[in-house]
Amino acid sequence: MDSSDKDKIVQSVPQTGFFGHPRGLFTLFFTEFWERFSYYGMRAILLYYMYYEVTRGGLGLDQETAASIMAIYGSLVYMSGIIGGWVADRLIGTSKTVFYGGVLIMLGHIVLALPAGVMALFISMGFIVIGTGLLKPNVSSIVGDVYSDEDPRRDSGFSIFYMGINAGALIAPLIVGTVGQQYNFHLGFSLAAVGMFLGLSLFVVTKRKTLGLAGTYVVNPLTGEEKRKAFSRIGIGALLVVLLGAAGIVTGLLTIERFVFTVSILGIVIPAAYFVVMYRSPKTSDVERSRLLAYIPLFIAAMMFWAIQEQGSIILARYADKRTQLSFAGIELQSSWFQSLNPLFIVVLAPVFAWLWVKLGSRQPTTPKKFSFGLLFAGLSFLVMIVPAYMNGTESPVNPMWLVLSFFLVVIGELCLSPVGLSATTKLAPSAFTAQTMSLWFLTNASAQAINAQIVRFYKPETEILYFGAIGGLSIILGLILYLISSKIHGMMKGVN
Ligand code: GLU
Ligand code: ASP
Repeated sequence: MDSSDKDKIVQSVPQTGFFGHPRGLFTLFFTEFWERFSYYGMRAILLYYMYYEVTRGGLGLDQETAASIMAIYGSLVYMSGIIGGWVADRLIGTSKTVFYGGVLIMLGHIVLALPAGVMALFISMGFIVIGTGLLKPNVSSIVGDVYSDEDPRRDSGFSIFYMGINAGALIAPLIVGTVGQQYNFHLGFSLAAVGMFLGLSLFVVTKRKTLGLAGTYVVNPLTGEEKRKAFSRIGIGALLVVLLGAAGIVTGLLTIERFVFTVSILGIVIPAAYFVVMYRSPKTSDVERSRLLAYIPLFIAAMMFWAIQEQGSIILARYADKRTQLSFAGIELQSSWFQSLNPLFIVVLAPVFAWLWVKLGSRQPTTPKKFSFGLLFAGLSFLVMIVPAYMNGTESPVNPMWLVLSFFLVVIGELCLSPVGLSATTKLAPSAFTAQTMSLWFLTNASAQAINAQIVRFYKPETEILYFGAIGGLSIILGLILYLISSKIHGMMKGVN
């Protein structure tokens, strides 16, 4: 898109009307708020739905398989951002892509709301994987479109949007979790569908008045010929996948384990291919090559971070259910409520961190240093979970404050890493590939969860000390290494901070 198009878009968006920010931010904030409400509400009960016995309304899967499915599902949800980025950039623009994404997500939750067993679970996952891939990267990228490049409100606009994400994630477990666990899982999932319906309606009703032309442009449209080629390739590819999948299921060759394993491999192959293509592209300059090399350790660090952070809704969720005293201080706690702790701490502490970075000004740590703090705190969040098992063994239920402490620590790390991660990706990716930076950043999470899918099955109360110790320890070691080489990486970033 050239700069006159960019100006036209910015001019079409009412520049005030939402806490001193462009009115479009209102629409984007609440669309993403409700989308995250539906996603995190669903995830707060999904693990329990999968492994609770049938008599308790669950599917009765074993706990290890359920954990592995949670991880691979999370991985696919972020991997499909690649599709969402492509559809928006080359076919229909971000705004329409967000709309179709929202529709698919809502359908996905509706399917889960029906009491229809394992098949419905997989169908729902298919809808939500594609839907989130279409919606999430694009709704964030429209945030960038409603400000001019020089607008000083831009960064704080992204921070407000980030609060929307976490506010949705905060209330979802309390509502969907409570209804899902106390009454009925399917009723819980139907509330997730209602949430997405509200977000989608709000988007459709308000976007004309608030977003102007933002999201309506197709940045790099396919020509007629390219379209024909792309569609026939996609058609053939999809047909092959369906045929192979069907043949695999019929012959019994395609088991859940094999499917999960394949996606785990993709989680490594896709980012590696991205790096090779960007590095070798003739459009990439020497300075950009150096920045790209600097980005590799940051990518790995972000992967390690998300691997731990995302286990909050898998391993720590199982811990909340099986290892924690749920009658506490006279209240009967629901295990799903613990999922509100991460976003709660984010909402409370994000402004503190924003203030801290501003106060430190030019003395604030460089991006590689912030990433290393992210790893140290993530590692600590797992190491503290060794203490209760070490002190009292793994038989007696643990005081819930241990989980509170663990979520608190991971959030300190998250606030060092996550808000700067996307901006670092934007600045370090070669300019010919900027359209893909959002997908590239989401790949840090997708790859992390692809690997998690293999790791989480090793957790059992009996292996707890080793499990938390090994993963937490690895994160701390990587954090220390990153800290030691941070000045070198910073140098290779060639002027990017
Ligand atoms: N919790 C974040 C969100 O839902 C994670 C996204 C990421 O991997 O950056 O937006
Ligand atoms: N902190 C996560 C994110 O930024 C939300 C969560 O894990 O609940 O959206």
